[in-house]
Amino acid sequence: MRFFIAMVSHETNTFSTIATDHRQFEARELRYGGELLEAYRATGTCLGGMIDEATARGIALAPSLAAAASPAGRVTKAFHEEAKARLVADLKSAGPLDGVLLDLHGAMVPEGLDDGEGDLLRAVRGVVGDRMPIAVTLDFHANLSDDMVRLATLLHGYKTYPHVDMAERGREATVRLADVVAGRIRPTVAFRRPAMLPPIAGQLTTRGPMRRLYDMADTMERDPRVVTVSVFAGFPLADIRDAGLSIYVVTDGDPDLAERLADDLERTAWEHRREFLHQAPPVADAVARALAVDGRPVILADIADNTGGGAAGDGTEILRELLRLRARETTVACLWDPTAAQACARAGVGATLTLDVGGKVDDRHGAPVRVTGRVRTLSDGRFVHKGPMMRGLEGRLGATAVLEVDGVKIILISHRWQTLDPEMIRFVGIEPERERILVIKSSVHYRAAFEPIVHTIIEVDAPGLSSSNLARFTFVNVRRPIFPLDDL
Ligand SMILES: [Zn+2]
Repeated sequence: MRFFIAMVSHETNTFSTIATDHRQFEARELRYGGELLEAYRATGTCLGGMIDEATARGIALAPSLAAAASPAGRVTKAFHEEAKARLVADLKSAGPLDGVLLDLHGAMVPEGLDDGEGDLLRAVRGVVGDRMPIAVTLDFHANLSDDMVRLATLLHGYKTYPHVDMAERGREATVRLADVVAGRIRPTVAFRRPAMLPPIAGQLTTRGPMRRLYDMADTMERDPRVVTVSVFAGFPLADIRDAGLSIYVVTDGDPDLAERLADDLERTAWEHRREFLHQAPPVADAVARALAVDGRPVILADIADNTGGGAAGDGTEILRELLRLRARETTVACLWDPTAAQACARAGVGATLTLDVGGKVDDRHGAPVRVTGRVRTLSDGRFVHKGPMMRGLEGRLGATAVLEVDGVKIILISHRWQTLDPEMIRFVGIEPERERILVIKSSVHYRAAFEPIVHTIIEVDAPGLSSSNLARFTFVNVRRPIFPLDDL
């Protein structure tokens, strides 16, 4: 057996003013051909799972493109067309294929289009025809479209948030694709898109309404007639018609069963929709609460300034309050400010300088803060994720500096990346366990690796484009009525 394999991944926050162009993909991930296999083999990623499973089963792979950029604004038309052209050209020259494995996100919004993945799948179908099976892994935050469902043979969404099952989903997609090729299963699909737009911070799968839905899905998958069940929580900060929660059930040649199970999941999701609503204290309350905790470390989770949800990553309001209250033994991880990081690099380790940090991208993450501090550490920003998420994958934060301002250490990074791994703090010489307060710019992912090592977590309702306070945004394109934007 021989499968084509590629990744094109972006989560687009349509409220962001940062355009996602070729340069943004280059900064994060842009590889071609065999290089893809070498970079991802044995990593905790979808591609890693696909490659490992294919290798174990003696399935040959025809590698094409691996492209990913940090979540931000719409993908430029130029890059989207470039990626699509590359996929099409590689498919045409790939030689004989039995199937196509794609690692897509599901919430990519290119300029002039609502549905990036649907458009890529249409192009792929255009080359391989209607009969070639296509298996796709999608992020838990995919906003599923009719085209994605129709054009792919099988979709496999992550079942966890934090996303700790990416490799497992990659393996599953590979196994199921091989099953289809060999004629062992005949997928029949049911799909539901209830009028729900759950906020990000209410979507975690360790407890709450998504846990309930995935407990049901897990039970359903034990039935041998069921091929796969995905419940996508959706990405609410893409203001497109199809944004929101969706349900995808595949059975083996039993469409009635698929419809029935999809109905059950839809009914339960709808009945418990209010459990998705999320509230966090405002900045002053949250910081006061953190300073009063007896025990360390305390995480102030800056859930609204999560670059993994397309926020700028340079939000300043929590930092400003911590400085005002003279917090000590505190680390802010991590603030995206390439200009400040470079200024620190020019000044050198040990130098004292005065500069503005953060708040430079737009007016939705707080204003810049003027600080005077000492450069404590400089780094090229390379580290290796220890996981559980992205285990083994190299992270590149670009020129990185730790600026110490009184008792507050600010980790300044040059490439936008969510603080989801304590390694992002350790690699610049700070022991997260020893800090009194950690400001972590992440919505949910940080929980996988930080929960075991921290005393208390306090989520903060600070300004930012990954806010779970959806009242902060003006939605124009999402289908209405929809919960919770409308009182349903
Ligand atoms: Zn996600």
